[in-house]
Amino acid sequence: MSYIGRFAPSPSGPLHAGSAVAAVASFLDARAHGGIWRVRIEDLDTPRVAAGAADLILQQLYTLGMHWDGEVWYQSHRLAAYQAAFDQLLASGLVYPCGCTRREIADSVLRLQGHFPDGERPYPGTCRHVPASGLRALSWRLCVPQGVIHFEDRWLGPMQQDVAAAVGDFVIRRADGVWAYQLAVVVDDAAQQVTDIVRGQDLLGSTARQQLLAGMLGVTIASVLHVPLVTDATGQKLSKQNGAPSLNLTQPLEVLQQTWLQLGFERIAAKNVDDFWAQATRIWAQAPSCANLHGNNLRSDDPR
Ligand code: GLU
Repeated sequence: MSYIGRFAPSPSGPLHAGSAVAAVASFLDARAHGGIWRVRIEDLDTPRVAAGAADLILQQLYTLGMHWDGEVWYQSHRLAAYQAAFDQLLASGLVYPCGCTRREIADSVLRLQGHFPDGERPYPGTCRHVPASGLRALSWRLCVPQGVIHFEDRWLGPMQQDVAAAVGDFVIRRADGVWAYQLAVVVDDAAQQVTDIVRGQDLLGSTARQQLLAGMLGVTIASVLHVPLVTDATGQKLSKQNGAPSLNLTQPLEVLQQTWLQLGFERIAAKNVDDFWAQATRIWAQAPSCANLHGNNLRSDDPR
């Protein structure tokens, strides 16, 4: 199958130095494979959507010379597809309603025994065996089977996660009625025939959940490559939440050079943006595909 990649920003604000790394890496990987590069705006989480951010992100990508293939997809236009996937899971008995409040979950997880990476504790399955008629459904959860999911990350090497132990039955439809990121991303990657997911390492811990869901929905599982996160002076991940400034696009070439350095490469002697992409694509295509070379401090059992 020929390569189809994608960049899937959430429009909670404009691109910053951290999200630019994911955008640049996914674009380069697609171009280096002679593939297609799609853009999908993940605007389901309406409380976090910032007015005008989607258009701004598209403008930023364009200014940086990252021209996408085909129409931009918006998840807010895809609700029927998520409902259909949910109905399929429901018909297979793989989802159940959950009436737990945040407070109840917090109390019951405190009673769980065991070792939990990063101090995060899985949902203890409280509502899995409660008859649906006895519940006021707040959210809907997926029945996660026991067992370890293994996958190969093209940057990090072999990874694994026991989703039941690390995360538990996770939410696929939130209490506020919003389709959860995990469900929407799997449905859309399948619908857009994405073969290769390139994104930031903050999403590494979602991969096993997504592969599990893809298996349950009977859709193809894309290969993954998770690039390092950009951190600030205090070691915190750059994010819109902690006020990372928008990219300064008065000098697009310089933004690309800085992003390229973040990916661990050396500055390119490029005359302009087009020249940068031509050279960077060549270098990326020749770079060793696996990564442990790049060094990282993420654990394979990171539960996020
Ligand atoms: N929308 C997600 C974000 O901006 C990325 C989703 C993905 O690449 O799977 O963090």
